[in-house]
Amino acid sequence: MPPPRLSHSAEAARAAALQAEFNEKKWVWVPDDKEGYLSGWVVKEEDDEGEVVMASGGEIRRLPLYALSKMNPPKFDRVDDIADLTFLNEASVVHNLRLRYGSGAIYTYSGLFLVAINPYQNLPLYSDAIVHQYRGKRRDENPPHIFAVAERAWVNMGEERENQSILITGESGAGKTESTKKVIQYLAAIATDARPPTNAPSHSQSPSLAGAPAFNSTMPATGLPRSSSFRQNNTSSHKKHMSISASGSAFSLTSKDRLGIIEYQILQANPILEAFGNAQTQRNNNSSRFGKFIKISFSPDGSIAGANIDWYLLEKSRVVVRSEAERSFHIFYQLMEGASNSLKETLLLDGEIEDYEYLNKSRREVDGIDDQEEWHALKNALDVVGFEPEEQLNLFRIVAAILHIGNIVITSTRSDDASMPDPSQAERVCHLLGIPIAEFTRAVLRPRVMAGREWVTQARTRQQAMEELAALCKTLYEKSFGMLVDRINRALDRATLKSTFIGVLDIAGFEIFDVNGYEQLLINYTNERLQQFFNHHMFVLEQEEYAREGIEWDYVNFGLDLQPTIDLIETSGNAIGVLSLLDEECIMPKATDLTFTNKLHSLWASETPSGEEEHPGRLKYEPSRFEQGFTIHHYAGRVEYHTDGWLEKNKDPLNDNVTRVLASSSEKYVASLFSDFAEATGINANAFMSMGKKRVTKKGAFRTVGQRHKEQLASLMGQLHGTQPHFIRCIVPNTMKKPGRVDVPLVLDQLRCNGVLEGIRIARLGYPNRLPFVEFRQRYEVLTPGIIPRGYMDGRKACMRMVSSLDLEKKDFKIGTSKIFFKAGVLAQLEEQRDAL
Ligand code: ATP
Ligand code: MG
Repeated sequence: MPPPRLSHSAEAARAAALQAEFNEKKWVWVPDDKEGYLSGWVVKEEDDEGEVVMASGGEIRRLPLYALSKMNPPKFDRVDDIADLTFLNEASVVHNLRLRYGSGAIYTYSGLFLVAINPYQNLPLYSDAIVHQYRGKRRDENPPHIFAVAERAWVNMGEERENQSILITGESGAGKTESTKKVIQYLAAIATDARPPTNAPSHSQSPSLAGAPAFNSTMPATGLPRSSSFRQNNTSSHKKHMSISASGSAFSLTSKDRLGIIEYQILQANPILEAFGNAQTQRNNNSSRFGKFIKISFSPDGSIAGANIDWYLLEKSRVVVRSEAERSFHIFYQLMEGASNSLKETLLLDGEIEDYEYLNKSRREVDGIDDQEEWHALKNALDVVGFEPEEQLNLFRIVAAILHIGNIVITSTRSDDASMPDPSQAERVCHLLGIPIAEFTRAVLRPRVMAGREWVTQARTRQQAMEELAALCKTLYEKSFGMLVDRINRALDRATLKSTFIGVLDIAGFEIFDVNGYEQLLINYTNERLQQFFNHHMFVLEQEEYAREGIEWDYVNFGLDLQPTIDLIETSGNAIGVLSLLDEECIMPKATDLTFTNKLHSLWASETPSGEEEHPGRLKYEPSRFEQGFTIHHYAGRVEYHTDGWLEKNKDPLNDNVTRVLASSSEKYVASLFSDFAEATGINANAFMSMGKKRVTKKGAFRTVGQRHKEQLASLMGQLHGTQPHFIRCIVPNTMKKPGRVDVPLVLDQLRCNGVLEGIRIARLGYPNRLPFVEFRQRYEVLTPGIIPRGYMDGRKACMRMVSSLDLEKKDFKIGTSKIFFKAGVLAQLEEQRDAL
């Protein structure tokens, strides 16, 4: 909470005293391994070295001057916008964030960013009253808040009829998904208010009911679905814990009551996505294992018309393996704990969690998550969104089939061939998936492959067969997830030509781990593109501002800085990027991760001019400490990638035999998951036989993981370029998931990775501090007594007189048409002078 308000004069006196105390010493921030930075004051400077007395303890440290960062005068403490600091150094940035966080202010602006630090506790920041407080207000009329960002997006959309996007990134556990929910909560609340009264959520009138036949039946008289009250009664067990409820609705009951059906359906899409796409990990009990872009579309009257969801990079390998301390996707446990006996019977699930190989090797329960309760929330959400019982069953069918596949036992014959001694387990799988057991077993154990010009039966080893089954599970899960999202979109997407949207992107931020794999490359590549988008946007805005103010200034487009790195990853054609080279290796006979890595090395060795100077954000390729690896210089830092398993990860993991069996399943849903294969091959034996080694990459046919991601990202970027963007950066304050503690080095790392520091660096190259003429004159006229004549004087002229009398260096300021612009640090100088009076 903000410090208690003193009376105006008392406050001024206190500020003056602080400033006076500050002026007595030369305050600096001293880097410290443990604390990040400590405060102290310089007592001596000689030979580029400073002697510093540490504020706490009085210890004396000697450091090179460049390592010391100037502290901002106390007037700048707790500023709402980091960009207003006069000394824009890392130490001052974290200091400000830490001060604010300590008093419950988890939101802070940093120029174009809203920085949100995970509070790890439920703060009273999201009530209807607060929604109201931000409604119709400008950013500077309220403390920084995520609602202010949503409000601005909404207002811009309405006034300029332009689509908006809100880009939320951050590490795992930083609060992206919670932030996404808050944005949607705000939009749903204000859109409901905007809804014309005739369109009020009267169930019989709403066209959305067509998509939700089950909605009425779950609506008791209160207007709330039954399991909501169920959840309400059960919240006591959750009190101790963070709000990790997968039901995800941040609504108070009253606001839920007010919502229209489409708003409610949109909110209920979330527990569905989270059940299938989230899992407990070591960093986050409700970690999203996929990225998403939710577009909420609005009718011209401001009411919500519908929503559409795009998803990216689902971590499908989790259904098969994960670290011991983590779980698979929530749905597996929800189904096992919550499903009725009859559903379990249908799915042939007669065991407990312990009995399933894909579940019993790692953690099963999570503090604060009641899987049974979540199951009911999920079922309710499915009903609300309009999933027919049959459709729901199909989703669970896939989940159960995966559990059964995990229990298939494959052994090895004496000649090392794979065999399946007990077919009963596979029978369950085939029953659920609607496929003939003989063909399934053959496809897994003895697939037919092309050898030269003939088809031959190839015996598989046990290992190969096991891998095939694992691959099948991953593919089934991912395809079913995709189908699920498609289905949600069919229910919610009612965008028309007249509607505009606000898109919210919830996607993993930059990742630098000890060992970085293919997944990290794709994520970091994505973030490099997003950062470029940000830099470009900032460039455009700054240019516009300078142009508007009539200032001459060749602002540099820092987006271009990132291009070489992006090219290095994505380029195809003559200059070959990592992803294209990987694609090529994937169709080479005998290629391995090592041949891929070596090719990369020799290709780049010839292309990278040696001795090129270091530059953040600029491409640098170098060999790595791993035998199979390489290093890329991203804007966020160097990342060393380890190329183990990349070929496999990039390929379609399933052999055609298995795919073919599934594509002709008698279960329509299962067959539909593989319909792209059927389209590409015609699914008859002739087409199958004629499929040579060369796989066409035409639409519908197989594409590599890299290709698919590149396309998806291109589509995302295309959409983003058509919007006015807003940027939210989530920060995890400590690794203990505890409220109140800020681990400064950890936070600094994130500020570096998420572009906040990069944004500040760019801002510093321009004129980051800017004041309207009136404000400048009001505050600093005392420094230039008698310079401005009594009576009226045009603001610009007054400023010109003031700066010339202040003896400021020409390069340190620019005078526009309504504002005066300063280089970093100038205002501190003026503050000091002002105080010395
Ligand atoms: P991941 O990348 O793993 O999906 P994330 O950035 O989406 O991580 P969240 O799931 O949004 O992280 O947040 C993690 C946890 O932090 C939440 O379950 C919740 O307990 C807490 N949390 C985050 N933001 C808030 C908030 N604004 N108020 C209260 N708690 C929060
Ligand atoms: Mg998340």
